[in-house]
Amino acid sequence: MSRTTDGTTDGTTHGTTDGTTGGTTHGTTGGTTYGTTPGTTHGTTGGTTHGTTGGALDGTTGGPVGGGVAAGAAAGAAARAGRTCFDPENETLAPDALRALQLERLQQVVAAACERSAVYREMCREAGVEPADIRTLDDVRRLPFLEKAALRKTYPAGLRLCGLDEIIEVHSTSGTTGKPTPIWVTRREMDAWALRNARSLWMIGLRPGDLLQNCFGYGLPTSIGLQYGAQHAGIGVVPAGIGRQELLIDLIVDLGVTALCTTPSYGLYLADKAKERGIDLATDSNLRIGLFGAEPWPESGRARLTAALGVDAFNEYGMGEFLGPGMACECPVKDGMHVWSDHLLVECIDPETCEPVADRAPGELVWTSLTSDSMAMIRYRSHDISSLSWAPCACGRTHPKIGRITGRSDDALSIGGLVVFPSQIEEVLVRFDEFGSNFCLVVENVSNLDRLTLQVEIRGFDELSDDGKARLARKLASGVKATVGVTPRMELHAPYALPRETAGQGKTACHRVDDRRSC
Ligand SMILES: [Zn+2]
Repeated sequence: MSRTTDGTTDGTTHGTTDGTTGGTTHGTTGGTTYGTTPGTTHGTTGGTTHGTTGGALDGTTGGPVGGGVAAGAAAGAAARAGRTCFDPENETLAPDALRALQLERLQQVVAAACERSAVYREMCREAGVEPADIRTLDDVRRLPFLEKAALRKTYPAGLRLCGLDEIIEVHSTSGTTGKPTPIWVTRREMDAWALRNARSLWMIGLRPGDLLQNCFGYGLPTSIGLQYGAQHAGIGVVPAGIGRQELLIDLIVDLGVTALCTTPSYGLYLADKAKERGIDLATDSNLRIGLFGAEPWPESGRARLTAALGVDAFNEYGMGEFLGPGMACECPVKDGMHVWSDHLLVECIDPETCEPVADRAPGELVWTSLTSDSMAMIRYRSHDISSLSWAPCACGRTHPKIGRITGRSDDALSIGGLVVFPSQIEEVLVRFDEFGSNFCLVVENVSNLDRLTLQVEIRGFDELSDDGKARLARKLASGVKATVGVTPRMELHAPYALPRETAGQGKTACHRVDDRRSC
């Protein structure tokens, strides 16, 4: 995810950091009267009723908040308490104004990147484009794509736009396929990151008085942006990380944790581990909201997460290259994830032709940080397959929405001439009660033929008879065959036997695939 700064440095009036850049004055709102706007009780499963969004937006009634002094922050927090949006002025900007702001910021980041990075300047020279060529938002298509390989080639700082004296944190991608890519972060970007995450957490219904347990991994890479975002909004955080699940479960129950963020598979894992101790997190805890990301999960997973954890489950999207969480998140309408588009420009393209696809049509997401002052993250190809829509949302936010990630353009497996996405397999598996929470596709070439092996974790594996396992394997295989056209060999495993993604990285589906073919 990107280190995006919110553009206050450019002197525009759209700056969105809401006055917290001075440091620690935010987050002092404990016990404020966060309110229950009428008609806003949806989205909460038990617990208190301080609500998520209602139908109507509170618009810009509060105006810009904050001011960098404690009194201002407290007043801002009080004014903000009953709002639907954390940052209404920017979250509900008229689409035309939002696009105008995007263009203005795009022009600025491209000019700055060409001025401060010899590597980026050379990329633009090769593409035959100059900053002055960016006259409309469509002109973004004249700019070169940025690929992961280019990030690696410029390791460690080729795309950095500032000196170390301006860097306050360094993050990193996971580096699973090579050296990790360092992501340099300035103060402005850190504030912008916190703001975007604060907007997301507020959008899904968290308010001061909630307690958020962050069960993404800490370290490199990290999803610490969720912590920064919560604190920016005055919401308490338990920075629990992952591992030591007994402790994580105790914290949730004993501290009265009301919200959990983690990967969907780790959330289910915690629920299962709690059950083994006779604790039903759905009923024996105060959990009411869950934010799940770093792994793609199907719509059918929502009911499962709700049943296991007792939470209203929301989806979020982020990529390590853009710092992680805080790029896009579902609102209570739950029909796509709002992209914080005053900070990020997202395109949806046909991965083959690289031309834009129609509104809501499937395509690959390409990301530009519109406010970064420390790295040139411009037209970065995510290879995540999704869709994009600027259609108005009933929640009142104007920022466009991306659809659920359904696969990766570089993860589409061609097996025996058929294109298979891991997400299609997952859709089949979740229909079976016996399905645990994880699976892996192993593709091999045997005697010049592609062979797909589907490894699946099965609930109650040890209790199943050999016959029962064989019957279940046949049922699963025929379900997959009916959906993707390929009959897999089946390998059933005990719960949690397969490797899983827990780092909070936006690796989407790729860890589900083990392609052992030589070419
Ligand atoms: Zn919405």
